[in-house]
Amino acid sequence: MSELFGIIGNPIAHSLSPLIQNEAYKLNKMNAHFQAFHVEHEDLETAIKGMKAIGIKGFLVTVPFKAKVIPFLDEIDPIAERTQAVNVVQLIDEKYVGYNFDGEACLKAILEDMGKPSLMKENILILGAGGAAQSIYYTLSQFEDVRIDIANRTLEKADAVKKLRAHHKHTHAISLEEAENKQDQYDIIIQTTSIGMWPKTDQSPINITHLKKDAFVSDIIYNPAETKILKRARENGARTQNGIKMLASQNALSIEKWTGHKVNDQKMIESLEEALS
Ligand code: NAP
Repeated sequence: MSELFGIIGNPIAHSLSPLIQNEAYKLNKMNAHFQAFHVEHEDLETAIKGMKAIGIKGFLVTVPFKAKVIPFLDEIDPIAERTQAVNVVQLIDEKYVGYNFDGEACLKAILEDMGKPSLMKENILILGAGGAAQSIYYTLSQFEDVRIDIANRTLEKADAVKKLRAHHKHTHAISLEEAENKQDQYDIIIQTTSIGMWPKTDQSPINITHLKKDAFVSDIIYNPAETKILKRARENGARTQNGIKMLASQNALSIEKWTGHKVNDQKMIESLEEALS
């Protein structure tokens, strides 16, 4: 019997996960199918119970359910617990266990494109302090020697993110203005706000004017493929990366978690680029 996996969200019609997951199953000769499920807010608990009853072994969670799904799961992992956001769920021994792969996928994407095995003493700027930023900060701050500035419009939220790893010695919460002024101090800049997303593509959280030589700038947004901040970073000589690789990594990591199959995310990246172009 074919295994069923899926994604829940609202709206969900434009999710690209069914496309890349089903392609990956086919390429890896897996007897599985991935389905997008549109769930109404008031039906979330019933939907989760229904998925468990019919034996769905794993599903992704997207907006607006990343936090709301938590009360209906049996367990959540430490990152999901600290960030109060779940985006991957796996059925283990009849229990739904929630994980958050945003940070791991972002780190994997950055290391791959930078050609580095690990982080070490880099000066990093995270722009934003929302759900994705929390998970990314939590993952990056496992490296004790990196310096991390979290810049956000609402400074209190940047402070709250910093508290996710209170013992990390080199983390500071700063304003977007301060980040803009000292942009030439960073080896890596990770843009995690929703600014610059389609259709408001003419916006950028900071104005890029003077980056450090060899800076690497990653924007986790994938639509458009090149946000304003990435365009300005490229024009200023930086190496840049959009959010497609992170999205592909998340999907590849979820398949590995659910099935044990290690899938190559390059084909997923190509399909995503084609679908978004
Ligand atoms: P979120 O929790 O809603 O956080 C949004 C962030 O953007 C906050 O830091 C918010 O600042 C900031 N922001 C929004 N509008 C702003 C404005 N006008 N001026 C200044 N700051 C503003 O969102 P999220 O879930 O973290 O997602 C953020 C983005 O990442 C989305 O575009 C999402 O599609 C993308 N994403 C991509 C991937 C991937 O796999 N590539 C994964 C996850 C998310 P305040 O705190 O001041 O409101």
